[in-house]
Amino acid sequence: MSFVITPPALVSVPVVGLAERFPVNRIYCVGRNYVEHAKEMGFTGREPPFFFIKPANTCVVVEAGQTGEVRYPSLTKEFHHEMELVVAIGKGGKNIKAADAKNHIYGYACGLDMTRRDLQGEMKKLARPWCIGKTFDDASPIGPITQAAQAGDVDNAAISLTVNGVDRQRSTVTKLIWNIGEIIEHLTTAWELYPGDLIYTGTPEGVAAVVAGDVLHGEVQGLTPLHVKIV
Ligand code: MN
Repeated sequence: MSFVITPPALVSVPVVGLAERFPVNRIYCVGRNYVEHAKEMGFTGREPPFFFIKPANTCVVVEAGQTGEVRYPSLTKEFHHEMELVVAIGKGGKNIKAADAKNHIYGYACGLDMTRRDLQGEMKKLARPWCIGKTFDDASPIGPITQAAQAGDVDNAAISLTVNGVDRQRSTVTKLIWNIGEIIEHLTTAWELYPGDLIYTGTPEGVAAVVAGDVLHGEVQGLTPLHVKIV
């Protein structure tokens, strides 16, 4: 097959212990999925989960032991980190039940749902889409994927983020409002999942701004940590 322009590169993420890589299809993100983060964003109570989508090419794929570079995006003066557990889908499907969701999961990774918070806030006020706040180059850093069988007890894992060595976010995955199975059940009533899809499951409290030069270190217990530098 030949193309009229050079086709964009396939985005892929390393898998711990394997030479083969995980190809990225879509990126789904869950909004406000930890109680204390919902509160800091001005919301309370359990609302049905909601989703937004980012293109695969917003990933900054960080190899094990490396520090990824995240370019500070245009237009914002409030560039926020959101440390998240990422679910990598190995087997697609629609109308997947929570009890069956684990059969569709290939593995897990540490991710950051980077956000132009000031622009997102303006869009919220105007009841417009969040796109400009959430989708831009380098908006979705991700570290290596650990296969589910080797990832330990992800549902109970600690999740944390430091910036320049100082604690910013510290919680546990048990505090998800909608757990991983429930996320997949809700998501697949609206969209069919495909192998290669990623789901960023939401961030705990403590989101805050970063500036050029900051070094972010994210961890989910049992997974390969994620290091990025803002440039
Ligand atoms: Mn998020």
